[in-house]
Amino acid sequence: MLRFAKAGSLSASPPNGAAWYTPPTMTETTKLDSDTDFGPLREAIALSEAARKRGNMPFGAVLVAPDGTVLARSENAIVTDRDITSHAEINAIRAASKHCTPQQIAAATMYASGEPCPMCSGAMIRTGVRRVVFGIRATVATPYLPGAVGAMVGSVDCRKVFAVAPTPVDVRGPVLEDEAKAPFEAFAARGAR
Ligand SMILES: [Zn+2]
Repeated sequence: MLRFAKAGSLSASPPNGAAWYTPPTMTETTKLDSDTDFGPLREAIALSEAARKRGNMPFGAVLVAPDGTVLARSENAIVTDRDITSHAEINAIRAASKHCTPQQIAAATMYASGEPCPMCSGAMIRTGVRRVVFGIRATVATPYLPGAVGAMVGSVDCRKVFAVAPTPVDVRGPVLEDEAKAPFEAFAARGAR
């Protein structure tokens, strides 16, 4: 537990002596600090294609600890689960919660093939995740999903949601957007095949 004592918002006192209500400072950039981000993001994109082929919406997510350990890999499963909330990022948090401490999850980076929707962004705020890397912007992805229930809600800029987080959330995206777009193009052209 001590190893993750500095993980953030779930601790009893503010991290690094910061005030609890310091306004969030958003990082609006596509620049990544390290090439190590590309691997997990590409894995999330591959999971989005797998989700499409399974008959679901083309979204994938990978949750990775600071030391590079993958805590969870997940796909969108709203069709196969018959659960409209079965989004990739929510599923990653649920999967990681089975074997990780809240502090471990809070310290992790969420790699999402698509920009997180307000529900998933809210779930990440709730878990204390403070770093997010996403592929395709919601405004770019949404037109490929005509008629999807809640799609317009899903096209909300995730940074607007993360702005209410009690600790700053470092949001990087879009990153590798052309690669992340391919499963959406396939979904629009062929559906889940
Ligand atoms: Zn979502």
